[in-house]
Parts: sequence; structure tokens; C-alpha cells
Amino acid sequence: MQTIKYIDSTCCNSSNAVVLSKELQAVASIYPFKVSNHYAGLIQEPGDAIWRQCVPDARELDDDLLDADPLAEGLLSPTPGLIHRYPDRVVLLVSNRCPVYCRFCMRKRHVGAGHDLPPAIDQIDNAIKYIQSHSAVQDVILSGGDPLMLDNASLYMILRRLRAIKHVKIIRIGTRIPVTFPERVTPELCDMLRRFHPLYINTHFNHPTEITAASSKACELLADAGIPLGNQTVLLRGVNDDAAVMRELMLGLLELRVRPYYIHQMDLIKGAAHFRTPVTQGLEIIRALRGHITGMAVPHYVIDLPNGKGKVALIPDIIEREGDLLFLMTYQGERVTYRDITAVRG
Ligand SMILES: *Cc1c(COP(=O)(O)O)cnc(C)c1O
Ligand code: SF4
Repeated sequence: MQTIKYIDSTCCNSSNAVVLSKELQAVASIYPFKVSNHYAGLIQEPGDAIWRQCVPDARELDDDLLDADPLAEGLLSPTPGLIHRYPDRVVLLVSNRCPVYCRFCMRKRHVGAGHDLPPAIDQIDNAIKYIQSHSAVQDVILSGGDPLMLDNASLYMILRRLRAIKHVKIIRIGTRIPVTFPERVTPELCDMLRRFHPLYINTHFNHPTEITAASSKACELLADAGIPLGNQTVLLRGVNDDAAVMRELMLGLLELRVRPYYIHQMDLIKGAAHFRTPVTQGLEIIRALRGHITGMAVPHYVIDLPNGKGKVALIPDIIEREGDLLFLMTYQGERVTYRDITAVRG
């Protein structure tokens, strides 16, 4: 029987570029610390946007209020490693390793944990059998950890089995590899992935500094393999909670043929409260984007509600109604009247 294997991790050596103090080592003993050479190379100075995303912070240990699994992914898991929250789509966790352990990760409880072994083949097998026997599932999202930490043969095996299921229409991969370890995206990987269309990739850029020659090349290879690319950004205090930064990021992504998909309000994850921003600030950022830059570059701003209630999109207040008159706010802040019909006649 085939096993699931990770890529040879010597090729994404953790960097020694960052030396942790005793205090931060204590944080790292709870929430593992790892940063690829590529990502460590983007740090310009301690405390910058890249640093904050990957270097432990003492505040990770002092937010007792929050939950390790606020989205109740554990409860929504019919079989280990599978999350089935919406009727028509599931998340399949195929890895708990990443090239960088992001300090704000929503699966902080899971990534880099314990022995760091890939999921056992039986676990994947059971999850695939579950998908096989649930014909409402049309969309399978591979996530983790980072799915592209699996070697090509393991990924191929999983994708082949998913593709063999008639009711699975699309397959998505959520990966931060183009940002954290772009060398992993090779022509061989892309040749393999393109055999499983319609296959989508959502990547995860959070800051314009993460757009480099290497990450651009990785996106180019994926896009040239016909893979539609989207991006999910997490709104992070001290990293990208700024309209100008977001604007540069979103426009930069479009140039890589990556379509901004979501800006996520920070989940209420234990150990990551210091990254939280008020929702009003997220709304201000959306207001600063919409109409000012192409709509192609404006993602949905979403809160993934606690207890598995699902994602809700938020938009700034732009509408008031008086009978059949709507008062709409333009991107320039002008209030414009629009005559609606309140009932359809005839
Ligand atoms: C985000 C998420 C999805 C996918 O949601 P889309 O809005 O379709 O991208 C599916 N399942 C779970 C559990 C999720 O958290
Ligand atoms: S790459 Fe994704 S899964 Fe891995 S630590 Fe970062 S946010 Fe979490």
C-alpha cells in the first residue's frame, strides 16, 4: 500500500537567521517556530511585516480568553482530517507541515504539532470514502498545513482518487507555498496538477513584500498550467491593516494573474489575539479599495463565524431606503438617489 510522504524538507531548511530569546523559545515550545530561508530572506528589520508574521511573540501565551478551535472544526469533522460544514463542499486536511509556521494561523492547534508526520494513508482513505458516499459534495478543498508539502507522488495519488469520484466537480488547493517556498513550484508539479482540471489554487499573500521574483515565477508556472489562481489575505494588525498596503498588494496580485478572493477578519484563535483589528477598520479598507481600483482587485471581506456558522461577507454602509428611493454612496463619498421598484408589476 502506498504511503503519504512529505517532500524532502532539507530543501526548505529552517533558517537560523532568526535567533530566539529564552522567552520566545518558551513560546516556540508551545507553538512551533519555523521559517524557510526564502521567507526569512524577506525580513528587512525586526518588527517589520514579515517578521511579525513568522517570529514568535510573547503575547501568544497570554490570551486565555480565546479558543484553540473557535470554528468548531473538530465538531464538524465526520472522519479525522475532513471538515464538512457546508453541504456541497469539504475541506480535506492532508498535511500539518508548512515551510513557515505563521503566528496567526487559524490552525495553530494543528500545524507543526507533535511528531509532524503526514496523515496516515488510512485517514486519507476514510476521508475519501466519506466523500465517495456523499454525493452532495461537489467541491473538495485540500488544506492543512500546506498540501504542497506532500511529495508529488502522494499528491497525485490523492488527486487521482478524488478525480475518480463522479460527483466531485472541482478540486481546490489552499497553499501558501508560492509565498513561503516558491521553489517547490516546479514544471513537474505543474504538469502533474494540470491533469486534474478543473483545479483551482487559492494562495495566501498578506503583504506586498511577499511579491518577489521567485513568488511571481511560481504563480506564472501555475497560471500557465491553466490553474485559476485566487488569493486569501488575513487582515493583521501591524502587518497589513492599512489601505495603501492592501491596495498595493491587491494590484500586485492581479499582475501575477492572481485574483484577490477574500480578506479574512482574524479568527478568534487562541494565541493570535494580538493580530486582531476592529471590523470598522476592515470596512474602511474595503471602502478605500472599491471604485478606486479595478473591481478585479477587490476581494470579499469576510468573517468566518465562530462555531462553524460559516463565512459572512461584510460591506461598508452604502445604502439607505425611503420608499422606492435608494440613497447610495459613491466611491467618492457622494450621496446619489436611485429610483428602485418596490414591487414587480404586471
Ligand atoms: C472557507 C471554507 C470553505 C470554502 O468556502 P468558500 O466560500 O466556498 O471558499 C469550505 N469549508 C470550510 C469548513 C471553510 O472554512
Ligand atoms: S502556511 Fe497556512 S496553514 Fe501553514 S502556518 Fe501559515 S497560515 Fe497556517
